[in-house]
Amino acid sequence: MEVDVLVLTHSQVRELLPMRECMDVVAEALGDLARGEGSQPLRSEIVLPDRRGVLAWMPGSLASGKPFGVKILSVLDNAAKMGLDSHQGGVMIFDPDTGSPLALLEAGAITAVRTAAVSALATERLARTNTTTLAILGAGTQARSHIEAMLEVRPFERIRVWSRDSETVARFVEELAARHDVLFESAADVRSAVAGADVICTTTSARKPILLGEMLDPGMHINAVGASVPSWREIDPGVVPLVALFTDRRESLQNEAGEYIEAVEEGLITSGLVVPELGEVLNRDHPGRTSETEITLFRSLGLAVEDIAAGQMVYERALERGVGVEVNLAE
Ligand code: NDP
Repeated sequence: MEVDVLVLTHSQVRELLPMRECMDVVAEALGDLARGEGSQPLRSEIVLPDRRGVLAWMPGSLASGKPFGVKILSVLDNAAKMGLDSHQGGVMIFDPDTGSPLALLEAGAITAVRTAAVSALATERLARTNTTTLAILGAGTQARSHIEAMLEVRPFERIRVWSRDSETVARFVEELAARHDVLFESAADVRSAVAGADVICTTTSARKPILLGEMLDPGMHINAVGASVPSWREIDPGVVPLVALFTDRRESLQNEAGEYIEAVEEGLITSGLVVPELGEVLNRDHPGRTSETEITLFRSLGLAVEDIAAGQMVYERALERGVGVEVNLAE
């Protein structure tokens, strides 16, 4: 008996997962999920005994006949200081017919690309078309992949970057400016980073709000990516009633998005508000942006079906190209 599992490393995943193709497969997964196909329970996690971070596991299943799987990863506060990715672990995908594991893929690479790909889909559908300035808050893994993703969907002329350490921002801007033919600027604070921006991506590990309602202008689009656990805040709850809110999954929003939960608890919005899912917009069941002046905010929480859809594509390409190491688990 053979149960061949293909093991793929970080660089192999990155090589086999171009942003645009990742956008296509996650769009299909989100569209299917919004139609009730597939299965997506909430993420589970435990706080590690010394409270340095969490171990999280995210199961999910694509639509009938497509793989199911799980992402399991640690997120440690001091990972970057050790020169490690903040998200470490694996995505395991399974054959829907036999139930056998097919592949184990490095999770950090998939997370970096699929999260930004989802934000790019949201931006493509929700941002105004005449966008010239992008603001990126944060200068880590997601900041990097979001710049690549945003340039995939809008021809930005200027990208302003803010993070809490100016030296990190300077290094980041130098690195990214060498890679993309766009004017990069370092911003001294969040307010000046987002002033006049058409699209804002919040990609920090902030615990307290950094983006406030008074900083926003009509017509902006925001991709809120960080603070995907209820006790963290990147966006002030006061932003929530000012925007047309969209999300990847309503159940995740209600259980994991701290600023949304607080806005409901404080009575800033009604708990009866039905927040549209990106999959519904992609399926044309929701119109998306309804005016040039509306502020749209896509609240990303991150779903296993995105990891599994991206993982399936990487797995199929790796088989075609003979990439990776196969291990027969049944040996
Ligand atoms: P990184 O560690 O690579 O980058 C984090 C960035 O946030 C760094 O620029 C860091 O600055 C900054 N930062 C850290 N702490 C604070 C703080 N207290 N206030 C302001 N800025 C801070 O992480 P990732 O890019 O991988 O992840 C960024 C965020 O996105 C995290 O919150 C993560 O949990 C979330 N995430 C969400 C996903 C989703 O699907 N929605 C998927 C993956 C991640 P410095 O360099 O100074 O430390």
